[in-house]
Amino acid sequence: MGLVVQKYGGSSVADAEGIKRVAKRIVEAKKNGHQVVVVVSAMGDTTDELIDLAEKVSPMPSGREFDMLLTAGERISMALLAMAIKNLGHSAQSFTGSQAGVITDSVHNKARIIDVTPGRIRTALDEGNIAIVAGFQGVSQDKKDITTLGRGGSDTTAVALAAALDAEVCEIYTDVDGVFTADPRVVKKAKKIDWIAFEDMLELAASGSKVLLHRCVEYARRYNIPIHVRSSFSGLQGTWVSSAPLVRKTQQQGDQKVEQAIISGVAHDTSEAKVTVVGVPDKPGEAAAIFRAIANAEINIDMIVQNVSAATTGLTDISFTLPKTEGRKAIDALEKAKSVIGFESLRYDDQIGKISLVGAGMKTNPGVTAGFFEALTDAGVNIELISTSEIRISVVTRADDVNEAVRAVHTAFGLDSDSDEAVVYGGTGR
Ligand code: ADP
Ligand code: ASP
Ligand code: MG
Repeated sequence: MGLVVQKYGGSSVADAEGIKRVAKRIVEAKKNGHQVVVVVSAMGDTTDELIDLAEKVSPMPSGREFDMLLTAGERISMALLAMAIKNLGHSAQSFTGSQAGVITDSVHNKARIIDVTPGRIRTALDEGNIAIVAGFQGVSQDKKDITTLGRGGSDTTAVALAAALDAEVCEIYTDVDGVFTADPRVVKKAKKIDWIAFEDMLELAASGSKVLLHRCVEYARRYNIPIHVRSSFSGLQGTWVSSAPLVRKTQQQGDQKVEQAIISGVAHDTSEAKVTVVGVPDKPGEAAAIFRAIANAEINIDMIVQNVSAATTGLTDISFTLPKTEGRKAIDALEKAKSVIGFESLRYDDQIGKISLVGAGMKTNPGVTAGFFEALTDAGVNIELISTSEIRISVVTRADDVNEAVRAVHTAFGLDSDSDEAVVYGGTGR
């Protein structure tokens, strides 16, 4: 029996009962002979509540202090979980990200892990303990300040520890039974996916399926760590995320590769906003100047669209999307660079949503794009921006249209299940 890393999300440890329930599950894994490392998120919506609190004190809190505040959430859950496990007669020790050796760069609020040195975790395991690690946090290599990995970052902590400790598997326990063909909170007829390739999961996660964080999947693919996403509330098998697995069918048929679905699923995201730079001179260097200003402010953008310039004025508009949380910073950065760029005005719209269709099979299936747009037309949904990759099509629409659009596309591509409705066991969906 090897080492397993188990990660429990906030909804799985939302209250004292949840913590006790999860503790029992962890002890079971230990009793089955595994060495167990647990990564835990903050209880319920604690992180959101801490953010609300910070905003009441200061509209633009310093990154360092913001991280110091947010990491408190995971400290609470890790200590309580260790206590609950001890109460069941097993030994457990809790560790902050820093104590667990999670070393990051120094970009506060969205730090990247650059090294993991889990010496203390190894020692704790060798001494027979269950090790509990606070997710979503680390310590910066240069300044030794406490950092956080961005919202949902406990997933990344879990995979990074699994890689550093050479774990057999990284289990992500959450409030649904696995990865579905769409968010079960929006599509009741979503189907659970038994296996999905890293590439497809990467696109789903990048397109807003928050069941797994994008960076966590990137990390797992790089180190080839299989992820098992499953519910902490049921005993069901969940979804395996890995490179193509082999399944043993029958003795005669031998091993066969699991076949990949043409369409993996529909993702949506309402966490982004759209900035339009109006009246940009249509000459070389303008886009570079706009996006240099944005990059210098350390803002990641998503889609970009440039309109054809009006013949009479020689001016064009450039729109791009970015996380709502970065909206104010982006507008400030562009205003500061206005004289260099030379645009007329800025427009900011945070009432948008993005819908994406993902599937490795779409590159060899003509008609997927047309079918996607037809489904949106039939649902009466207007498209504002479009972007594509080899295995994804995304559109931006009004935020109010998103749920309807996701359901329409899900049905149009034959993804609706005809059996049980997808179960959501907990969480507020916040
Ligand atoms: P945790 O607190 O366990 O980290 P999250 O809220 O981050 O949980 O992620 C789980 C949620 O992800 C589910 O409750 C579900 O609403 C949402 N979700 C979005 N897309 C999907 C999908 N394709 N499959 C499953 N869940 C999804
Ligand atoms: N507690 C953090 C958040 O809510 C990290 C996590 O849950 O993964 O984003
Ligand atoms: Mg999460």
